[in-house]
Amino acid sequence: MQPSARERAEPLWFLFRGDRLLMLDGEAARVPRASAPEDLGLQALFRWEVGALNGSRCWAGEVSPEAEAPEGMAFRDLRGIFALVDEEFFGVAGRAKQIVAWHATHRYCGRCGGRTERAAGEMAMRCTRCGMLHYPRVSPAVIVRVRRGDRVLLARSPGFPPGLYSVLAGFVEPGESIEETIGRELREEVGIEVANLRYFGSQPWPFPNSLMIAFTADYAGGELAPEPGEIEAAAWYAPPDLPQLPPRVSIAWRLIDDFVWKAGP
Ligand SMILES: [Zn+2]
Repeated sequence: MQPSARERAEPLWFLFRGDRLLMLDGEAARVPRASAPEDLGLQALFRWEVGALNGSRCWAGEVSPEAEAPEGMAFRDLRGIFALVDEEFFGVAGRAKQIVAWHATHRYCGRCGGRTERAAGEMAMRCTRCGMLHYPRVSPAVIVRVRRGDRVLLARSPGFPPGLYSVLAGFVEPGESIEETIGRELREEVGIEVANLRYFGSQPWPFPNSLMIAFTADYAGGELAPEPGEIEAAAWYAPPDLPQLPPRVSIAWRLIDDFVWKAGP
């Protein structure tokens, strides 16, 4: 059913209780429309406009840990709805989640312990005592697809869902170039060297606040040696025999899909 003109004029609300997003029950990924969270019977501790989705304005909000979901809705884990969402919905939901989490973790100044308040005109919390501005943190991470002939390197970390494999990823450390991060991660985690780095694309990833910067690379030496504790298993896979892959909404999936498509039947 298409929303009426009046409904369309009301913004969509991405309301979070902790990490969980308030969604309408049902098969599709939908969040409630309302002129304000109070219309849903919820008190927003914080709100911030986060963009638009299919022509509707979108707001992020935080509700208290005790808040109950209104009838016909539930607070759901974003990781549990990968199969329901498209990239656009996931993008707005992820941005909302990060802004709400930033606010929730910056109520006090990290330098002097003073209370913070919203800074006017920018996305920042200002310390009421020392004036320091605290911006949302975005953590750059690299994600790399390594090719060796007609095979692709896939690995799994101990924290992955059972059976799932993906391309390798790691956070950029202070003082490091992206190229250095890629070299270090592959050397440390699987013991190989790579060459021919090419930029592929990027994607914000809100678990908790990464910007995934994706590259493709070619194998250039070394024997696979998974790092104990970090990598449970790693192997070269040919397209007909791929294991379970990450969700389609992720850039990891797009990297692997691009390889399969180029490898041909
Ligand atoms: Zn301060």
